[in-house]
Amino acid sequence: MALRTKPRKFQAPMLIGNWKMNPDTLDEAKLLFRAVAKAAASPKYGTIGVAVPTLYLREFLNSPQAKKSKLVVLAQDAFQEKSGAYTGRVSARMLREAGITATLIGHSEMRQAGDTDEIANIKLHAAINEGLTVVVCIGEKVRDDEGTHLHFIRQQLLTTFRNFPKGFESQLVIAYEPVWAIGTGVSMDPTDLHETVLYIRKQLAFENGYQHLSQIPILYGGSVNPENARSFIENGEVQGLLVGKQSLTVQSFMQIYDVLLPIRSKRK
Ligand code: PEP
Repeated sequence: MALRTKPRKFQAPMLIGNWKMNPDTLDEAKLLFRAVAKAAASPKYGTIGVAVPTLYLREFLNSPQAKKSKLVVLAQDAFQEKSGAYTGRVSARMLREAGITATLIGHSEMRQAGDTDEIANIKLHAAINEGLTVVVCIGEKVRDDEGTHLHFIRQQLLTTFRNFPKGFESQLVIAYEPVWAIGTGVSMDPTDLHETVLYIRKQLAFENGYQHLSQIPILYGGSVNPENARSFIENGEVQGLLVGKQSLTVQSFMQIYDVLLPIRSKRK
């Protein structure tokens, strides 16, 4: 695999904000970005990033605030083809050309819009090949006492990470985001999160062709806020958090960042 840009290695603990399709004007977006970039100018530990709407990427990346700050600007998706008749799409190559070093892939809202595990796998390969660091989102839609969600997660892991090349692990982060917890205000029980994180690592560790992924950092996402963030970090055994709604308020986002400190010295 030909590596095209110097990949950005994310350090644990990680806090990634997903702005989704917000804020709805460039002026508001700039205000928010400036404030977050200032607050995250020299993070005390780990990696802080924000995944912003495509239209804002270049504007932010080239802003004086971004140049002075260690805040990582991520895309929210990257299309797999390099160019062609793909109306509405933005390729991993275009992102790389614009100077973007990282992207989300497989977010549940992209899956809702049609991305399957197979598509997430193809996008992942294309993005890695362009030298991007990729935060791949996985997670079950429902959870039941029979444990059918475990089978779902296993299938998602096997398909999404199929043929992930050895030696490129530093470009990969897994975001475990149960779909039922995203944007609902109903977050996951931290003990259940711990069990699920162990389950994910075990599946990867014992499956041929996936063992090199068993130590990849895992983030939790799903209705995280400044009040509940600590419980995921202390009891969930994750290396960071992916935060939607609460990343749109600088104060909440940075309060959540302060909670990450205890995992600084654990898994890198
Ligand atoms: C997300 O969109 O990835 C997410 C976790 O959203 P929220 O924090 O709003 O649940």
